[in-house]
Parts: sequence; structure tokens; C-alpha cells
Amino acid sequence: MITLNDITTKEKPQWCPGCGDFSIVMALKNAFVELGLQPHETVIASGIGCSGKTPHYVNTYGFESLHGRSLPAASAIKLANHKLTVVAAGGDGDGYGIGMQHFMHIMRRNYDLTYLVHDNQIYGLTTGQASPTTMQGMKSKSTPHGVLEVPFNPIATAIASGATYVARGFAGDIKHLTDLIKGAITHKGFALVDIFQPCVTFNKLNTYQWFQPRVYKLEDAGHNPTNRDAALEKAFEQEKTKYEKLPIGLFYKEERPTYESMLNQIKEKPLVEHDLSAIDISKTYEEFE
Ligand code: SF4
Ligand code: MG
Repeated sequence: MITLNDITTKEKPQWCPGCGDFSIVMALKNAFVELGLQPHETVIASGIGCSGKTPHYVNTYGFESLHGRSLPAASAIKLANHKLTVVAAGGDGDGYGIGMQHFMHIMRRNYDLTYLVHDNQIYGLTTGQASPTTMQGMKSKSTPHGVLEVPFNPIATAIASGATYVARGFAGDIKHLTDLIKGAITHKGFALVDIFQPCVTFNKLNTYQWFQPRVYKLEDAGHNPTNRDAALEKAFEQEKTKYEKLPIGLFYKEERPTYESMLNQIKEKPLVEHDLSAIDISKTYEEFE
């Protein structure tokens, strides 16, 4: 058994007071505690951005990578030791902008990973530029006349691209978000939890007050997450209703073999447990001399 104390580091959070990131880390820690996951059994890999601080505040193994690179780091960790529970954390700019190519391909592969996207619809750490999920027309430091593009739809993209657990949470509902993260961690395959995360400093449009009347839970609406067509229909509801209705909860779930389960080399034991002492790599070294 572990407690919240066990998985809380001594680091003082650097986030702005009121930031939705606090709720996400709280929900993640709740999920670890409720699932009884020990710190030495878990790893959090992050990218760069306000969300990149996540591994600093949760007492597990952690790896803060480069901008947009949380997913390659997380997948490498999973391949090296698939016994570990691996969580990747990033933001909307980090994951859906700079790291987009990793996002698209990791879903086809279906590693057993959980990916939490702190989706505040802005670049927060770099002080307020438009991100791929910023709403059309919103004025920002990089778009003084308003965003011209339509926003990226991560839920629809994930369902269409092979993700096997696709959910959306809201930082204003920690209990609900905890349940979604627990579902993502226990799911065997790639799980996306995109999280509406108000950036109280740089996004003055998508605030807690803006979200509250718009979000509703899919489970309360009788949604069947095993129905892909219904999931896609729900994924586009935000556009169809001009952002007046924003479903949260589990959109889609399917069972499919994980990438690592199909690798014969690590069928019996994780890569890190293989005895490599008999392998002579001196010739490889010579090539680099
Ligand atoms: Fe949170 Fe925005 Fe402050 Fe970053 S800039 S810590 S996302 S409120
Ligand atoms: Mg962001």
C-alpha cells in the first residue's frame, strides 16, 4: 500500500496559483495510490513546457526530455523494461505541435503507455502563443489579429489513428479525471487522456467558468465506448455545437495486442533482464573510433 505522501516529492511547484496542472498531478497521484503502484514500478516521461514539470512533483522515476519528445522517451523506457508502468506527460503545443509525428505513429504501434496531455489551448511556458488547439479567432501574442486556422481535434485524430483508449478529462473535476487515468493505466495499450486544463495566466478565454457549463460526462449520456462510429460522432460534437457542448469521459476503447507483446526478443523477460555479458561489441566501438 502507498499513500499520497509516499509519491509526493519535496519540490515546491513552480506553477501559477490556480493553474489546472495542480489538479492533473493530484489526479495522477490519486490514481497511483488507488492502484497501489509503487514508486519504483513507475516512470513519468515529460516534454518541455509547464506540463514538463510533472515528474518533478511525483515521487516515481522521471525523465524530462526535449520539447515534443515525451513519447519517444516513454516508448524507449517501455521497450527496455515493459514491467514498468509508464506515463508520458506533455502539453498541447508539446504533443500536438512539436511532437505531432511521434503522436501519430505511437498510436499505430499501441505500446502499453498512458499519455496525459495538459491541453490548455495555448503555449504557457513561452508566455502565451497560439497552439494547435487554440480556438479560431482567439488573439494571442503570436496571433494579434486572431487565429485563422481551425483547431486540431486530438480525440477524433486518436480514434482514427489507432489509439485503443481515448478519453478526455477536465482539470475542474479531479475525481472524474482520477478515474479516467486509472482506466488508462490499467488498459493494455496506448491510452490518450486529453485534459482541458485552464491556463489562468495566458488563456483568458478557456477558463474554469467557461468550461463549467459546457462540459458533460459521456457516461451520463449513455455513450458506448466500444462503438467506434459513436465515438467519432462524439469527438466532433465540439465543432458541431460551436463549442457549446464539450463531452468528457471515455470516448473509445478497444483491445488489440500491444507492440511489445509482439516482440519475440522480450517475450520471456524484459530487455534489461537479459544477460548481455557474452556479447562482444568491441567491433561496433571500433567503427566509431
Ligand atoms: Fe499554468 Fe499557464 Fe501558469 Fe503555465 S503559464 S503554470 S499553464 S497558468
Ligand atoms: Mg499548452
